[in-house]
Formats: sequence, structure tokens, C-alpha cells
Amino acid sequence: MSQIGALITHPPSEGVEFARIEGEIGKDKGIKVRTLYTGICGTDRGIVRGALKFAYDPSGFDFQVLGHECIGQVESSNSDIFKKGDLVVPLVRRPGDCPNCRIGRPDNCSDGNKHEAGITGLHGFMREYFYEEAKNLVPVKNKDLAKIAVLTEPLKNVVKAFEVFEKVSSRSIFQNEFSTNEGKNALIIGSANEAFLYSFVAREYGFETYMANRHPIEDSKLEMCANFGVKFVDYSKDVNFPTNFGLDLIIDTSGDPSTIVRFLRKATYNAVVILFGTNGRAPDGVITGADIDWIVERNITICGSVDAARIHYEKALDLIQKWHLAHPGVMDRMITGIFKPEETNIFTVKPTGEIKSVIKWNELG
Ligand code: NAP
Repeated sequence: MSQIGALITHPPSEGVEFARIEGEIGKDKGIKVRTLYTGICGTDRGIVRGALKFAYDPSGFDFQVLGHECIGQVESSNSDIFKKGDLVVPLVRRPGDCPNCRIGRPDNCSDGNKHEAGITGLHGFMREYFYEEAKNLVPVKNKDLAKIAVLTEPLKNVVKAFEVFEKVSSRSIFQNEFSTNEGKNALIIGSANEAFLYSFVAREYGFETYMANRHPIEDSKLEMCANFGVKFVDYSKDVNFPTNFGLDLIIDTSGDPSTIVRFLRKATYNAVVILFGTNGRAPDGVITGADIDWIVERNITICGSVDAARIHYEKALDLIQKWHLAHPGVMDRMITGIFKPEETNIFTVKPTGEIKSVIKWNELG
């Protein structure tokens, strides 16, 4: 039996270790994928901290392999769709049997009986290789994306959230007289990985786009914003932002109730507010009667958005390809650190200036 290196957890208990595990787990799925890079996100750190009580081991195992953001390369395949050498991004969510899961939208699962690789009852991708079925792999056509396509998973969440925005905003005439979003204002709260990706997509939609945090960000990040035409706001200094216009779209990646309410009060008629960040430990915020009046009288919609479906992975890959060409180097600079699997302190100590830290598992073959 072959043994491979893997990062394993015991959710919902805290901790992570680099261990040797059985390599042939799931071999019957047929396609062997060598892991190239896995991304580290707040969910991984939450599992390692023991803070995500909904995380649990796969059935029949007393551990779970961590990791849901991944790019890999096919090593061997029993499928006509994939051949040795192909680059692939694996899907995270696997359907249960509710109506949404059955139509390929486990992201909108209506009974919670789906599974998520590396999170809820399914091994993740932080291991030297893993086995998958073709239906759970999204092809990456361009070998130049072999590293940056690790951003597909976090970006697919953003693509889905904009699908939510499109559906909600179609209830009235949202766009300007030229049927574009030019002149409309989007605010993205937060300045980490997802906030950057949201800001870039908001620019794709033509929004005047602001990214906000309560502290300044590094010059290198300001340059990345400028490259996409995104303006950064340190609202601890610019306390009245925005003063002379309303916000048409607000997307929160902070999960901080007070900050959300602060900017809700700047939302304009028919605005859409998408809650994306989650932080169960954030201090309580206060929503007043005047806030409710503001929301109701302006037809403001507030909605949550979680995860995404296969179609959003595909659209995310198209965007990564486009940005790779249109904004040379910016996608590479989103990856602020490359670590070895043994460096498990990356799960407990967030590096200064981090946008996306990744673990390298294998060289591109
Ligand atoms: P993250 O580091 O958790 O991002 C949070 C961002 O919010 C950081 O930039 C943080 O700033 C900022 N923030 C915190 N409090 C703030 C405040 N009061 N005002 C303004 N900004 C504030 O990493 P991420 O990977 O980008 O994830 C963003 C959030 O999305 C996380 O909560 C994550 O759990 C969630 N998430 C949701 C989904 C979904 O499907 N809904 C999927 C993936 C992730 P500093 O830390 O720099 O102060």
C-alpha cells in the first residue's frame, strides 16, 4: 500500500498535522490527480482553530484531509474526457438529493445534506495526489495558468454572487440609460483575497469600484487596485465616505455587523447588498428603526451568497485567463506566499500582507 504526505485534521477538534496516509483512498473514482498547489483560506484556518463546528470527518475515517482550493494535473485516467498531463480544478461541493442538488446546483442546497471536500465529510486536496471522477473536475486549458488557477475556487464564489446580483437587480431598471453600470457605485468591504476578486469583477461589470477597510493597505496592493481601476478607501480616515453619491452595490467580505450597517446607511434606491463574509466572533452590531425605514423606503435588497456551481468555476477560469493577459503579473501577485506542506504554522499565523498563501505539492509535469 502506498503512503503519501497529507495535511490532516480532526474536525470539529482543533489542530492540523502533516502525516503519511494511505495513497489509494478513493481509487475507484478512476482519475489520479497530482496536486500542484492548494490555497489556504479562512475556512481552513477556522477548521484548524476548531472554530467550525459544522466540519466533520468523512464516513469511515477518523481524520479529514484538509483543503478545498486546488489546481492539479492528471497523472492517469480511465476517462475519455481527461488524459495524462491535463490541468484540472476539482469541485468542492458534492450534491445531496434535494431538488437544487439534483439540478447541479449544490451551492443552493436546500436541506444541507451536501458534502464539501476538506470541510464537511469528504477528504480535501491537501495531499500529494487524490482520485476523482471526471464529473468533479473542471479542465484548465492553458498551462500558463498552472499556478494562478488555484484562484479559481475563491473566484467562483464571486462569479456566483454576481449571478445573485443580476437576478435581484433585474426587479427594476438598475442600469443607466445606456444599459450599462457606468456611473453606478460598488463598495467592497474588506481587502483580503475575496475582496480583491470582488473588486476586479465589479470593474468587469463597469462599476465605479471602491474597496474599503478600517486601516491602510500596502503600496503593492494599492498598485494592484489601480491596475484594475479600483479605488481604496481607508474609512478610519475618510470617515464620511461616501459623501456625494450613494452606493448601488455593497458586497461585504468582513462579516462585521457594525461595518455592514454603517455602509447600508449609504445605500441608494434599489441597491443590492450581498453578505458574503462570515465571522461568528464579530462584535454585535445595532440595526435601528431608522435603518429599517431606510432599507424599506429605498427597495434595498440584502441577501447572502455562498459557494458556487460548476458553471461559475468555468466562468472564473475564463476571467483568470483574461486577466492574466489584460493585467500582466497581477494574478501572480495575488499569490503572496508559497509554502511547503510541512510548514503548518501558516494555518495559525497569517503572514503580513497576505492576499493568498498557497502550498506547493508537486512540480508541473
Ligand atoms: P479574510 O482574511 O477572512 O477576509 C476578511 C477581510 O475583511 C479582511 O480584509 C479583513 O481585514 C476585513 N475586515 C474585517 N473586519 C473589517 C471591518 N470592520 N471593516 C472592513 N474590513 C474588515 O479572507 P477571505 O478569504 O478574503 O474571505 C473573506 C470572507 O469570506 C471570510 O469571512 C470567509 O470566511 C468568507 N467566505 C465566504 C464564502 C462564501 O461562500 N460565502 C466563501 C469563502 C470565504 P483585516 O484582516 O486586514 O483587518
